[in-house]
Amino acid sequence: MPDTLRLTLSIDDDAREPLVADLSDLGFDAFEETADGVVAYAPAPRWDGTTREAVAGLLRQRGLDARAMTEEIVPDQDWNAQWEASLQPIEAGPFVVAPSWTEVPPDLAGATVLRIDPKMAFGTGYHETTRIVLRLLADVVPAGGRVLDVGTGTGVLAIAALRLGAASAVGVDVDPWSVTNGRDNAALNGVEDALDVREGSIEAVPEDGFDLVVSNIIRSILEPLLPLLVAKARPEAPVVLSGLLATERERVVGVMAGLGYGLREEASENEWWGGVWLAGARGSGFAPLTGNGK
Ligand code: SAH
Repeated sequence: MPDTLRLTLSIDDDAREPLVADLSDLGFDAFEETADGVVAYAPAPRWDGTTREAVAGLLRQRGLDARAMTEEIVPDQDWNAQWEASLQPIEAGPFVVAPSWTEVPPDLAGATVLRIDPKMAFGTGYHETTRIVLRLLADVVPAGGRVLDVGTGTGVLAIAALRLGAASAVGVDVDPWSVTNGRDNAALNGVEDALDVREGSIEAVPEDGFDLVVSNIIRSILEPLLPLLVAKARPEAPVVLSGLLATERERVVGVMAGLGYGLREEASENEWWGGVWLAGARGSGFAPLTGNGK
């Protein structure tokens, strides 16, 4: 990995979105919004006179001068070390999710350890939505069953299901980075023969009759996928959904009811929410799991 250029720009709210679009055309590939502007990142080798002039041009077009911009090179070494140090083992349900370079503390030795190196993919186990599924999975993974994980990211949920006794899993993701990362993580956990990671969405899965279907994707993407997603499950199979906000609960429960599914169990952490559905089940009847994720 090359060094990274960090460009800090002071710019008004309404000018930020179009500026970010123009910067991504110039090769900037990550952005952060701050109180008074935008921080943009690009591989440092791209930062030559031509690019600097192009960015200065973008600022001039908006009536700003180059003083609105601060540039800084972040050495690759520091960048990686900082990021790696920030990822520590975390507990979720019966699991500890831990990057391969960390040691699992002895007091967690009884847990099922999932070795997940996130790279560019989402799903470190640090996100509440991932942890919600990990907690819910413990009761619903069918021994010897086939699992479908839509939006697999790092592969963490599929790998967790395999470690809990599922025989095989298919993970799909529209993001090519996730596909590579999911495969790497499968190998790291010794389940590469059982986890089939494919690029794409549900259309990349011609099979059906899965014994468990899981998906952790934000509601705006997930909701339109739900009819296709439940069609992949065999009639008695649980469907586990996360990536949802607690405020979206009623809406999603309604959509799933329309598809013939009842909420069977649920969990939340901070503002996030997820649940387990079964075809035909009415109401929850289970005490909700809440709190901070253990
Ligand atoms: N399952 C992981 C990752 C969840 S993040 C975990 O629980 O931690 C959501 C993932 O869904 C991202 O990797 C994103 O690339 C993927 N995604 C987004 N839209 C999708 C779609 N329409 N079909 C399949 N995957 C999708």
